[in-house]
Amino acid sequence: MSAIDKRLKLELLQQQCNILVAEIEHIERICPHKWGPTVYAPVPTQDWVLDGYEGLGSDPVPFGHCIPGTPEPRWKRICLNCGKVECTYETMATERKPVF
Ligand SMILES: [Zn+2]
Repeated sequence: MSAIDKRLKLELLQQQCNILVAEIEHIERICPHKWGPTVYAPVPTQDWVLDGYEGLGSDPVPFGHCIPGTPEPRWKRICLNCGKVECTYETMATERKPVF
């Protein structure tokens, strides 16, 4: 397959992807959404820890390593009809309850 054929195939696939995305967005817009259970799905984070400096003089280079950080609280729910996934980082003030 020549490069031109590959470009044409890529263009065709991109058009098909765009059509699929538009169809999915349409389905999600008209879906009455029946939400499944809300699941706690925290986002992992990393913290960088300074171990020291390399080099001497007025321009030392810091070096260190990453450690697991405090996960960012997040909740997720999935529509049982269309598969739409919604995530939220917001909680109510009175208790840690997800708000969509
Ligand atoms: Zn839905």
